[in-house]
Amino acid sequence: MAGDIQLQCSDCGQEFSFTAADQAFFSERGFSTPKRCKSCRMAKKGEQQGGGGGGGGYRSQSPSSHGSGTPVICSGCGQPTTVPFEPRGDRPVFCRDCYVARKGSSGGGGGRGRY
Ligand SMILES: [Zn+2]
Ligand SMILES: [Zn+2]
Repeated sequence: MAGDIQLQCSDCGQEFSFTAADQAFFSERGFSTPKRCKSCRMAKKGEQQGGGGGGGGYRSQSPSSHGSGTPVICSGCGQPTTVPFEPRGDRPVFCRDCYVARKGSSGGGGGRGRY
């Protein structure tokens, strides 16, 4: 019975479909009809959540990553980098290079007893 509704985003002006599933979800939670398309909502959400660090000078080194990394300082080389997970305070975090280097040269005492 319920079908998709085409709505216009108030942010980017693009039409987006307010699907039947979304309509059910929204009415279930008591939300009103969305004014923004999905990507604008996501952008807004990300903005609010990740709006922390005021420190400038951070440069994203991997443009291929979708901006979902957490900026950290590598415990190996001390360079700023991003990791795709939330680092824990008690664990060292490494940049990609250091991580691969560590992983590649499995330090002595591994499980393998092969010569
Ligand atoms: Zn939009
Ligand atoms: Zn490093």
